[in-house]
Amino acid sequence: MAQASSSDLGDWAAPIRAFVALVEAHDLHGLLFQHLDLCERRAWLHLQRVDYAHLEERMKLGAVAHELHRPRDRSVEGLMGLAPDRIDWAGREVIEAKGSAGARRAVSMQTLFYALLLMAATGRRWSAANEIVGGRKKLPVAVGPEEIARMLEMARRLEELTRTPLAPPAARKSICESCSYRFLCGFA
Ligand code: SF4
Repeated sequence: MAQASSSDLGDWAAPIRAFVALVEAHDLHGLLFQHLDLCERRAWLHLQRVDYAHLEERMKLGAVAHELHRPRDRSVEGLMGLAPDRIDWAGREVIEAKGSAGARRAVSMQTLFYALLLMAATGRRWSAANEIVGGRKKLPVAVGPEEIARMLEMARRLEELTRTPLAPPAARKSICESCSYRFLCGFA
């Protein structure tokens, strides 16, 4: 991704540059950050392209609902390699549609991911929000030094996981019940 030469990012510029460098070097995408926030093992499995989601009726229905209700429009045309659902160019806000308001921090990771890449490309500060599908509710996603530092830390962890030959051990948590890997992890 081309990065803007002039910038009003101030102190945010250096960590955002470091973040983008890791994303590009290791081909990281937004959903990986969501997986990592929920479970390191789940992120590792995704990095290894082990995918069980197609076996889940609930996830197939969720994907169809997202396609039917997503607010994606012409505002995102021409964004090489990025696929947020909607962008308010005038207000510099990126909006991502989500199926529900659950796991709020984890689902915000993907939206934050887009915001950081847009900031790198434009040299301007952006805000972010999640919209619950059907336009029922818009939830702001915090974007600031803390969030940028967390995303950079997560990109570093994902990079480590790409070099980790074995999956992190399965540790049961509340998300396991609805995770598509639960059979693999022995939590079905
Ligand atoms: S079932 Fe639980 S431990 Fe296994 S990948 Fe999913 S969230 Fe992680």
